[in-house]
Amino acid sequence: MQYFKYHNSELYAEEVNLVELANQVETPCYVYSRGALEENWQAFHNAFAETPHRICYAVKANSNIAILNLLARLGSGFDIVSQGELERVLAAGGNPQQIVFSGVGKKSSEIRRALEANIYCFNVESPLELTRLNTLAQEQGVIARIALRVNPNIDPQTHSYITTGLKENKFGINIDQVAALTDTILSLPHLRWIGIACHIGSQLTTLDPLLSSLDKLIELYETLRDKKIPLTHINVGGGLGIRYKDETPPTIDHYVQAVRDRLGKLPLEIILEPGRAITANTGILLTRVEYLKSSHDKNFAIVDAAMNDLMRPALYQAWQDILPVVKTTTGEEKQYDIVGPVCESADFLGKNRLLTLQPGDLLAISSAGAYGFSMSSNYNSRPRAAEVLVDKDIFHIIRARETIRDLFALESPIG
Ligand SMILES: *Cc1c(COP(=O)(O)O)cnc(C)c1O
Repeated sequence: MQYFKYHNSELYAEEVNLVELANQVETPCYVYSRGALEENWQAFHNAFAETPHRICYAVKANSNIAILNLLARLGSGFDIVSQGELERVLAAGGNPQQIVFSGVGKKSSEIRRALEANIYCFNVESPLELTRLNTLAQEQGVIARIALRVNPNIDPQTHSYITTGLKENKFGINIDQVAALTDTILSLPHLRWIGIACHIGSQLTTLDPLLSSLDKLIELYETLRDKKIPLTHINVGGGLGIRYKDETPPTIDHYVQAVRDRLGKLPLEIILEPGRAITANTGILLTRVEYLKSSHDKNFAIVDAAMNDLMRPALYQAWQDILPVVKTTTGEEKQYDIVGPVCESADFLGKNRLLTLQPGDLLAISSAGAYGFSMSSNYNSRPRAAEVLVDKDIFHIIRARETIRDLFALESPIG
């Protein structure tokens, strides 16, 4: 279903008019749709049907407590990469038994806390992490369940900054080294080896790399099974892309069906860690035009959101659609660069967009529900945007706009 659409030339989130919302909450603000969020999660869950599975939403894509809470209520699991994300999931009512912990640099304090919370599985990314985890589990008198995150050396054909499964990337353990590690793992008494995992990159728009890495995991699973190491799950990671512009990624259903086909009758649980595919198209960033100006052959629309609010365009030249909140038929259509107030030339949200604009107009940056707010910063001492969740005809402020005081509340001059 379309959760952001026009009625009589005005853009709505579900049944909420975005002009009215912006007048009340002010801009910039993120607006998410509950309906879209739940539909995306359910699409993953339902496509698996009877196949044993766990959908562990990748918290870093959008970690607002209200979003995590809605997913927890659906029965979602969570993929975390820090103690901060662990505490968010617990505060949101997430089930610790549905948490997997990824990341190359887990600190001892973070591991201790995760052991105490009794999370489902640690996705271990290096041999040294194995011994550290074993020691910490021993100190706490517990057994840690682990999966090895392997690096399958597969090119996901995506932006180099979001490629994670090539041998030059820092993530995971080289898949060819796993055989040599098995004796070590089995000799560590406070570890229980239950799975193998990978995550090769993000915004993947073809199935091939995802299925090739699954094939490599299945092959490894079979090798280990023949050595009497009975793993219970394979974790294929996240990475499924969405349509920002003209990409044609596989649908969630198509992707999950392909995974199920590959799996056949193997007695395995499948874990997926989707982030972007669940939240990206559930959100927009609302911003207001402050100034228009032209220089030489360029037209600039200077808006009140900036790269600190939405970093993807500056960081990886990402393209996100920019829609007028009120469609107008009067005035002159021009090519605009949509830029923010931050003092960097990388501070743009979109370039060469054909729009009819007046100062004060509202714009909606599409597909901003993933890696939007969660990557935002206070650069240029800008308070971070408010976040709003729309549920049919009502909206909730799920994160208040930061205040100027918040910016330096933790700072003090020396005495
Ligand atoms: C970022 C990440 C994900 C989610 O990736 P998406 O492309 O948003 O689906 C999943 N697993 C791990 C280990 C990650 O680092």
